[in-house]
Amino acid sequence: SKVPQITLNNGVQMPQLGFGVWQVPDDEAEQAVSTALEAGYRSIDTAAIYGNEEGTGKAIASSGVPRKDIFVTTKLWNGDQGYDSTLRAFDTSLAKLGLDYVDLYLIHWPLPARDAYVDTYKAFEKLLADGRVRAIGVSNFLPEHLERLTGETSVVPAVNQIELHPHLQQQASRAFHAARGIATEAWSPLGQGKGLLEVPAIVAIARKHERTAAQVVLRWHLQLGNIVIPKSVTPSRIEENIDVFGFSLDDEDLAAISALNEDRRIGPDPGAFDVA
Ligand code: NAD
Repeated sequence: SKVPQITLNNGVQMPQLGFGVWQVPDDEAEQAVSTALEAGYRSIDTAAIYGNEEGTGKAIASSGVPRKDIFVTTKLWNGDQGYDSTLRAFDTSLAKLGLDYVDLYLIHWPLPARDAYVDTYKAFEKLLADGRVRAIGVSNFLPEHLERLTGETSVVPAVNQIELHPHLQQQASRAFHAARGIATEAWSPLGQGKGLLEVPAIVAIARKHERTAAQVVLRWHLQLGNIVIPKSVTPSRIEENIDVFGFSLDDEDLAAISALNEDRRIGPDPGAFDVA
């Protein structure tokens, strides 16, 4: 596949483009993930809360692709934060996936008011030391949460997966991560489809390159160095979203997209979000 690999801070290689499965029901996940693997995706992003680890695992098992060639990410849900509960939740995720290790395990949200992410991450460090995960990281952490975490634990997170798209470009987090060797992974890289793919500046760039708006937005991320995990259940879009290695945006295109930042979130504010 032509998807470049990003070398994480512990030397593990992660495909820069993968397939996200949020909001894909478990009974449709097997089909969607199978389609993605056939289209050449080798990284899958799921989470305990998505309820589709079983369907995802079935697709991996039946794909014929060697396990070592697929990069599997899952995430610890909020209600399971804490040292012992994290170890139990990890066992449950692994059993549902039908795997004997995952490539990347993420704390889904920091939940600062609960003050449990440091203990949770210490359990992640144990899973890493025991060889049950190849890399550990976080999601939705603000720089202040990363500052606290790295001050009280030993393993710098390999990845922070955050909401990131042209309307929310996250310059401060990206710079903070880069300075500390943390890879930035963009969730909702297409802004969930919605209005972003109709923005005139993006549509104009797509016309110029004879590509789609989704492909232009994914190129923008890739050229910035972000890891992306676009989601679709539509086979033609699954193929379109990985067919982004045969063209490049020029400096003018990149600048026009970078001018679209509005610091506008679709999802919750990680400093305040607290749901079991
Ligand atoms: P996305 O930005 O990937 O957008 C997906 C939607 O965009 C699709 O449902 C479809 O409506 C549309 N779309 C996709 N491809 C298209 C195409 N080629 N042309 C036109 N429209 C297209 O949104 P997402 O699913 O929210 O994010 C991607 C992944 O990120 C998720 O599936 C999940 O794995 C992850 N995620 C993580 C968190 C987190 O808290 N860590 C939160 C949200 C999402």
